[in-house]
Amino acid sequence: MTQTAAKTPDTELSQFRVQGEIPVPLLINWLTAAAVPILLFFAGRAASTAENPLTAPLLVTFAALLGLNSLVYLGIRHQTLHRRGFISLITALFTFLVIQAVEDGSAIIWLFAYPPVIFYISQARVGIIACAGGLAALILLFSPVGDLIFEPPYSASFRISMVIVLGFEMVTCYILDQSRRRSKLRLLKLASEFEFAAKHDALTGLANRREALEQLDAEYQRFLRTGRPFSVMLMDIDLFKAINDHYGHHAGDELIRMVARILRDQCRKVDTAARWGGEEYLVLLPETGAEEALKTARRIRAAVEAGSVDVDRRQLRATISIGAATIAGAESIDRLLQRADEALYAAKSSGRNQACAATT
Ligand code: GH3
Ligand code: MG
Ligand code: MG
Repeated sequence: MTQTAAKTPDTELSQFRVQGEIPVPLLINWLTAAAVPILLFFAGRAASTAENPLTAPLLVTFAALLGLNSLVYLGIRHQTLHRRGFISLITALFTFLVIQAVEDGSAIIWLFAYPPVIFYISQARVGIIACAGGLAALILLFSPVGDLIFEPPYSASFRISMVIVLGFEMVTCYILDQSRRRSKLRLLKLASEFEFAAKHDALTGLANRREALEQLDAEYQRFLRTGRPFSVMLMDIDLFKAINDHYGHHAGDELIRMVARILRDQCRKVDTAARWGGEEYLVLLPETGAEEALKTARRIRAAVEAGSVDVDRRQLRATISIGAATIAGAESIDRLLQRADEALYAAKSSGRNQACAATT
């Protein structure tokens, strides 16, 4: 579950699955596995009774097509085709059951199975259209027009009850389905918020130390595979304690956020800017050599020096010191970070507001 999931409109919700939820293809396959023997059973009964001679072969055909639909899915795993095939087949099957008045007309009660299934496996819009269309068709069938064409064997009171109860079930299914979709959306949103909070720093929105270490490890693995070097920059706001002491902790916080904003502006999309500690930051520069890393460090240093924030009607400024190091040979991540830290220390020792490259 990702941030993208939380922003997803209701109609595409089925792409994201919440743990414990039955996947649509699995449900369709279960329903197919149940429907095939039931259809064959009623086909057998139709063949041995005085039903319309078309009923038995048609029920067998529906069973075969439903089975085929699931087999094709198991072969090519095309979810949309699987779902659309199933919806088309059950819609045609239910229409046939009603029009042919299968089992002396009693097969019509299978219509009650349609709304919950259709709402679960398809988008809300498809569910509404299928149910409203189905109900309208049933009303037409039960009207004098239907009597002229199909001679349905239902009493007036059965027709009235059937339409009202089925309509009631459809509306109930719609309401329950809406509630399920809203809960799912909320859950996905919460999950993505938790995921974001676990990976980011609350004050600046930058990656936190744990996320930075994970990105560093991923980049290190890439370096071991491809040999393409990467660089890191460790940076620390200069004389920050004095800023806190003079202007208060909230002013210090504003400066920490200002530097974070500058890092976001100055870094590429592929870079990871992280809050490494209190007023310390780490930037990971994938596929970046020493020369380019130092150039970036100098640019960031200059941008911070030029920046300012207004706190309590006062313009506050800060400078930072940066140590940049590029992965060399078979050294470990710890060793790389140690060299970046030494470069940062060198920048501090040589007067602060400097960007220094690490020695190998
Ligand atoms: P130097 O140039 O050597 O880095 O000096 P410095 O004063 O920045 O160094 P020091 O590490 O002594 O000070 C860091 C200060 O940052 C101390 C701590 O109170 C403050 N600090 C750490 N986290 C936060 C935070 O989230 N908000 C604020 N406002 N201050 C913080
Ligand atoms: Mg510090
Ligand atoms: Mg500092």
